[in-house]
Amino acid sequence: MLARDAVFRSWQNERAKHYRRMNNIDDMLGTAVNVQAMVFGNLGDTSGSGVGFTRNPAIGTKEFYGEFLMNAQGEDVVSGVRTPVPILKLHEILPEAYNQLREITTRLEQHYKDVQDFEFTVQDGKLYMLQTRNGKRTGLAAVRIAIQMVDEGLITKEEAIFRVDPNQLYDFLVPRLDEKSTKVEVLATGLPASPGAAVGQIVFTADEAVKMAGHDTTKKPVILVRAETTPEDIHGMEVAKGILTSRGGMTSHAAVVTRGMGKCCVAGAGDIDVNEKAREMRVKGQTFKEGDWISLDGTTGRVIKGKLGTLDPSPDDPELQKFMNWADPHRKMKVRANADIPRDAIQARAFGAEGIGLCRTEHMFFGEEKIPHMRAMILADNEKDRRTALKKLLPMQRADFAGVFKAMDGLPVTIRTLDPPLHEFLPRREDLMVDIALLPSYDAKHKKELVSKYKDYGVKGVGDLKKALPPLLARVEQLHEFNPMLGHRGCRLGITYPEITEMQARAIFEAAVDCTKKGIKVLPEVMIPLVATVKEMANQGAIVRRVAEEVFKEKGMKVEYMVGTMIELPRAALVADEIAKEAEFFSFGTNDLTQTTFGFSRDDVNKVLPKYLAEGILKQDPFAALDQEGVGQLVKMATERGRKTRPTLKVGICGEHGGEPSSVEFCYRTGLNYVSCSPFRVLTARLAAAQAAAAETLKVEGGRTK
Ligand SMILES: [Mg+2]
Repeated sequence: MLARDAVFRSWQNERAKHYRRMNNIDDMLGTAVNVQAMVFGNLGDTSGSGVGFTRNPAIGTKEFYGEFLMNAQGEDVVSGVRTPVPILKLHEILPEAYNQLREITTRLEQHYKDVQDFEFTVQDGKLYMLQTRNGKRTGLAAVRIAIQMVDEGLITKEEAIFRVDPNQLYDFLVPRLDEKSTKVEVLATGLPASPGAAVGQIVFTADEAVKMAGHDTTKKPVILVRAETTPEDIHGMEVAKGILTSRGGMTSHAAVVTRGMGKCCVAGAGDIDVNEKAREMRVKGQTFKEGDWISLDGTTGRVIKGKLGTLDPSPDDPELQKFMNWADPHRKMKVRANADIPRDAIQARAFGAEGIGLCRTEHMFFGEEKIPHMRAMILADNEKDRRTALKKLLPMQRADFAGVFKAMDGLPVTIRTLDPPLHEFLPRREDLMVDIALLPSYDAKHKKELVSKYKDYGVKGVGDLKKALPPLLARVEQLHEFNPMLGHRGCRLGITYPEITEMQARAIFEAAVDCTKKGIKVLPEVMIPLVATVKEMANQGAIVRRVAEEVFKEKGMKVEYMVGTMIELPRAALVADEIAKEAEFFSFGTNDLTQTTFGFSRDDVNKVLPKYLAEGILKQDPFAALDQEGVGQLVKMATERGRKTRPTLKVGICGEHGGEPSSVEFCYRTGLNYVSCSPFRVLTARLAAAQAAAAETLKVEGGRTK
């Protein structure tokens, strides 16, 4: 009775809750209890217990894989009190049980047509199977095993497509541990919070991390180990190779921050006792001190003793290529990438991007040689000065576009006109206020620092500070907004300062013509952001088309192009039929569309979100997976209404959701022409789009291996 209740209660423990949230399993599903006779692995030298896999779940090789302990129960194997023995050794100790185990597990694999993760006990020489289930595996292993099983005739190529979770393809793009180099001793398994691998020496404080890793001369790879991290640890997290925490889930501070940094993290490894004061951690009866080596696998959540080697990412892995060649022909939707600079565009193309879905021009202005002109443009209080500054920006912007066009030769490139509020390019209001107030009390050294800080604003020497800073503050004050997210940005900028849109259009078309003359095939799509009304679209569209004609006339050559809009406000979705009269394409900016539909600020939502998820008010973070019920309705409606006006309307999506599998599937069902995502999500989006289309034609349930 107690045992039965304990099993039912386990449905509500923290680990189970985390697991359900991670895998999108409904809390109401409930769990079941099997009652079976007890067998004993601890009856002496002819008894034992073990766990294993029919193939290697880490790297996918076809080998009998696992471990066991003689004279022990199952929990002794996993608890790590005694060191288990590789499963192949069982052959020497109990050959009969071993052969039977091989025979049974092979039969189970044949039956389920998938890798089996099994548990067994030998009682007095007699083998008992306790449990079998489809084995969890890394992305690398999933691809290899799918290919093996096709080669063995166990599954078809179509079935193989569903054997890999699209998110797992990320494994090919991050470094991983070289498990062949040394013996692998897993100390604990936490949550795979941020994928990749990290090897380094343990430190327990952020300051120590900086001390050991932060200096060029004595740079040492460190792993920051904390019970949990807080914003105060950021400086240490930045220099660490990886982060390990004993508490916290997939949305803990450590998990969220490291994912943003693209840094390996294992979170919530509860078996590890971290004592930050004593600067040690204990696990499995062993004590680790500052400077000891550990290795983290952020893809599986494993914490491994010692210093393993690492392997570079392998996006050109031949087996990955083979697998994608099976999946891609099913895909009907295109996959593009969000890339702002040629380097990212080249990277995206290597991952299979079929165009740029979002090229953000503002990122181009942050370059060292551009920012002074950009600032001069913003600080200008009249059109003439603004045009002078823009003239200086034109050749730089043209060169940027030419670079992206060249990288994407033959593929479409969607360029968004200037979008962020202008104050983002200027110093912070508070900084300026402090500097002005304290200027008289600053010493010479400090004043010199200020000169270099404000050198882009006409400050050439210490003497200029007093004169230059107050008018700068005045302009910053003018641009200050209470809610910049809903402020002077997007097409509102281009409408109030049409010369900005003019300069950008000129740079785009001059670059397009120049590239075409060099034999590069250019397909520019100019995208107007934050449109709410058809007249905004008409206003900006007219400028772009007029400048295009001017450039074509000057250069004596025409280039095909399109002008369209980003749909990122609910109003735009509502009047999409009107907007489509002026826009030749739509691209859903689902980050802003989610913000404006929910009225959530993406930067502040984390104050609310953990509670909302815990209470089940929201099932998922709507900024990670598209809210199909609400925001998705706007996407669907705008697509339908837009195409009613313009049946050939090209429709895509360029928010973060473009690389998230459930959102990609939604886009496919809604009839979008393409999804666009960050370069590192392109593989994931390609597989998700292929699975969505294949599931429909093959009429199969998404039989993904979880
Ligand atoms: Mg936006």
